[in-house]
Amino acid sequence: MLVVMKHGASAAEIDAVVSVIEEMGYQARPMPGAQRTAVGLVGNDGRVDSSRISALSGVAQVIHVTQPYKQVSREWRPENTVVTIAPGVDVGGKEVVIMAGPCSVETEEQIVLAAHQVKAAGAACLRGGAFKPRSSPYSFQGLGEVGLKYLATARKETGLAIVTEAMDEQGAELVAEYADCIQIGARNMQNYSLLKFVGTLGKPVLLKRGLAATINDLLLSAEYVLASGNKDVILCERGVRTFDPATRNMFDLTAIPIVQQMSHLPIVADPSHGTGIRDLVTPMARAAVAAGADGILVEVHPNPERALSDGAQSLYPDQFAELVGELRTISAAIGRTLTPAPRTATVAAG
Ligand code: PEP
Ligand code: MN
Repeated sequence: MLVVMKHGASAAEIDAVVSVIEEMGYQARPMPGAQRTAVGLVGNDGRVDSSRISALSGVAQVIHVTQPYKQVSREWRPENTVVTIAPGVDVGGKEVVIMAGPCSVETEEQIVLAAHQVKAAGAACLRGGAFKPRSSPYSFQGLGEVGLKYLATARKETGLAIVTEAMDEQGAELVAEYADCIQIGARNMQNYSLLKFVGTLGKPVLLKRGLAATINDLLLSAEYVLASGNKDVILCERGVRTFDPATRNMFDLTAIPIVQQMSHLPIVADPSHGTGIRDLVTPMARAAVAAGADGILVEVHPNPERALSDGAQSLYPDQFAELVGELRTISAAIGRTLTPAPRTATVAAG
């Protein structure tokens, strides 16, 4: 970190900055320049509270030279992290993993049918919510543990790995019992106590970008999970809120290569929530794979008109099958392959 002093800052002001840095347990290196003095902070372990310094008299600017996160950074680990969700389902390697299913688990028949449909189309994971974070408290909130049981049935019948959301600590313990990967949704990306807790559960975590989160915020949230002992984090770009009502969110394609430069963690893309509009999902899914996403999370419903949540952005099963074919071609063009759907039904570990 570099503390740039104002033009004409006094020796006493510079000394005060040096003292505060030393009090915080770091080394201070004053660097007098022709116009102004800068003070370097050496030994930044990511815990420096820069507001203590920026508020001091005579300070013009505090520049962060190293990133505030550590374990998620490429500097920390140059090679890609590969997160294994289930046997044969590795996110972050050469294969592109397709996760698909309805927004919500609605009935046993619905989720089992959806599982068969997405598997037939080529998905490797079934994604559906039993705990739903809805904007309105009067909207369908999900089936809770019953929904998890239905997901377990769908896995038993198809062998698909299960990705499903947890909204709080109690729910996360249950989700960890039933699912292969715990999703933390956009609204909870900055629920730091939940992030710390899921870091202790020993299951891979799919962490979605918050509605108004910067890429930096997303990486810092992932750092919470890694810092509590869980290295298996998959990031997910799902769009951010902007001023433009033309789409539900602004799908940020650039986040994919940016995250890959900054972090060794895998990143998947969710063009369903990223656009909110069915007809935009296919073009954005194609683009995300072309941009290097390690996987795609797509909402697919056996009957979108009757969906209890997010029907307007859910693909019809035949649209999804067509999309998977296209993603196979795009992946091949950039030297990747799609993770094949499970060949047999298995009883995966709960
Ligand atoms: C979801 O995945 O169904 C969901 C609610 O997504 P998000 O948290 O990205 O809004
Ligand atoms: Mn949804």
